[in-house]
Amino acid sequence: MKSHNIVLTFDDSSRENIKVAKILERYGSRGVFFLTTKYVEKEDALNIATFHEIGSHTHTHPRLDDLSVEAASSELTLSKKLLEEMSNSNIISFSYPYGRLNGQIKYLVKSAGYCFARTALVVPPYREIRDHYGIPVCLIDTQMTRKSYIYRVLKSLIDIDESNLKALPLYWKLGRGSPYRAMLDLARILSDQLDRRICAQMFVTIMHPSLIERYNAFQEFEEVVNLLSNVGEVRTFRDIQRATHTFGSNTAT
Ligand SMILES: [Zn+2]
Repeated sequence: MKSHNIVLTFDDSSRENIKVAKILERYGSRGVFFLTTKYVEKEDALNIATFHEIGSHTHTHPRLDDLSVEAASSELTLSKKLLEEMSNSNIISFSYPYGRLNGQIKYLVKSAGYCFARTALVVPPYREIRDHYGIPVCLIDTQMTRKSYIYRVLKSLIDIDESNLKALPLYWKLGRGSPYRAMLDLARILSDQLDRRICAQMFVTIMHPSLIERYNAFQEFEEVVNLLSNVGEVRTFRDIQRATHTFGSNTAT
């Protein structure tokens, strides 16, 4: 039985969300789509919510830590309310625009009634969600061509297991071409790593459907989905919450 938890998250309201959702459906995989309610088409949200999880990415996509408490709070509650009205279901997950957060913002997210909040902090695959309002990720498309990011990911992998040294040539290849080409290369290394781990791991990704379109990278995207769905079970935050309630543990098994 595949025990790793793969959570594929997608940020921002864009027309390409539907295309991405359809690709996931071909693999029987549910994604988590974080929508900005000011820019979302109700029909698109409804369409996605029939199979996938939708979550909030605020109403207008501000830097929450720059706003007053009242303004930040209203971004959180208004978007939740609108998505709940659109989908006729409870919205439990949230993602921070620009990955910007602090202790107070986390508190506001919790107060608004969300159960999970995803950051843009990158770490290697991890055992369980320790902080439900500061969930880190393992793969992110927007930073793929930043050498500092790749260096950090590869170094932490090598610290875990020296056999990952073979990943080093990847570092030299980056910064050229599509970030999704680089993402696919890194996904290969990470899925290989996951495959060799005995304990169940959490593996959360962030992708932006509008960027996949811009780089014309739907094929690379599909390969990443295929790779990851082979090493673990693709789950939504709602699935994880359900499993937690059933088994009384932090992560699904
Ligand atoms: Zn965003």
